[in-house]
Amino acid sequence: MPIQIILEKCTGCALCVKACPFDAIRMMETPRLTGSAGAPPSAAKRAVIDLNKCNLCGACVPSCKFKAILLEKPTEKAVAKVDLKNYKGVWVFCEQKKGAVQSVSYELLGKARDLAAKLNTQVGAVLLGYKMNEQANELIWHGADNVYLVDAAELANYQDEPYTNVLVKLIQKYKPEIVLCGATSVGRSLISRVAVKINAGLTADCTGLDIDPKEKLLLQTRPAFGGNIMATIITPNHRPQMATVRHKVMLPAELNKQRKGKIIREEFGLADLSSRTKLIEIVDEIETLVNLAEADIIVSGGRGMAGPENFKLLEELAHVLGAAVGSSRAAVDAGWMPYSHQVGQTGRTVAPKIYFACGISGQIQHLVGMQSSKIIVAINKDPEAPIFKVATYCIVGDLFQIIPALTKRFKEAK
Ligand code: FAD
Repeated sequence: MPIQIILEKCTGCALCVKACPFDAIRMMETPRLTGSAGAPPSAAKRAVIDLNKCNLCGACVPSCKFKAILLEKPTEKAVAKVDLKNYKGVWVFCEQKKGAVQSVSYELLGKARDLAAKLNTQVGAVLLGYKMNEQANELIWHGADNVYLVDAAELANYQDEPYTNVLVKLIQKYKPEIVLCGATSVGRSLISRVAVKINAGLTADCTGLDIDPKEKLLLQTRPAFGGNIMATIITPNHRPQMATVRHKVMLPAELNKQRKGKIIREEFGLADLSSRTKLIEIVDEIETLVNLAEADIIVSGGRGMAGPENFKLLEELAHVLGAAVGSSRAAVDAGWMPYSHQVGQTGRTVAPKIYFACGISGQIQHLVGMQSSKIIVAINKDPEAPIFKVATYCIVGDLFQIIPALTKRFKEAK
């Protein structure tokens, strides 16, 4: 067992229970196995670790003053050594649906170019599908130096097994140092399978990616502990370094039809392309949510709106601008707006041309859902509100005066 309680040493002080961030330790009646000379074994409350919850983080070990917790650290030998120098290039798995490359792929290509420049390496795009020549060129125009194209009828639509087999083999052959993928339902299903097969780490739902200038490692930033902290995760011992990123978190790469690149075609046999599941039909999801993700302008309101009736002010402004109405979680939790309008970590991620944040303080969980917007206009009566740190235009004042004034001026200008 990688972690265990030495019952003879445990006094039942419960300090480890408080130290465990995963709620994996309980105090339970446990018989002491060895009673003193002839005495029957005694029962007392001692720590018991639930191995289904424990992730071996080790936080409990230093909390125990009696050295009663034994955690076996993997030895150097146990960690398979990977020759890191063999891995080069930043790859993006480019998702396509019905032959159309999904916009998250262009966003990841934009970020991949930035990372590749810092590593002085090339950007690779992986494209799996059927009759995808044109799309491969599109990827070059959006920043790929090399497109690894696997064109086969079996890959026309996403299926776990063939997509996993092909991506695993491409990674094993070409050895990229970084692999990025959209945190879409396809991306989440695919990339976790690939990571397990190639024994690589994976950081899901990153909101920031960068390169450590000294160690040249990928810095993968994402909210952790329910969004209360931003954790930056590194993968020093394994390759590739793999991360998923949600739609609209990164800015898309600019289109440049003069860009040149190489299309590298790879072929796979039936052994890799066949699947135990059979695709019968693809049913398009019915979009019931407000189309915030596609809106060019979003007018969002928060707790500062002071009540559901005041969202009318936002609707009027949105109407004049042809915008969608969004909201912070505080306004959703208060029952002023339906959840489908919520922007942020547990709502929608958006990146419109203009985002109006009205009466929104700018907590990190809201910012991660809108900070890629091209222009941010913040209206807040508190000049110290954190939203002003990301805003392009800062309007300090009472939104009940400012919003109607803006609506009036935009109407006049129409
Ligand atoms: P507040 O923080 O209360 O800010 C209200 C602002 O209005 C203040 O800055 C105030 O100065 C201003 N104001 C008040 N009156 C006026 C006026 N008359 N004129 C101008 N300004 C005025 N939040 C999200 O938004 N989206 C998420 O997806 C999300 N997910 C979360 C996930 C987790 C796990 C957790 C823990 C939290 C999450 N939150 C999320 C909540 C987040 O932490 C904040 O509580 C929330 O964003 C605050 O909303 P707010 O800015 O509207 O309210």
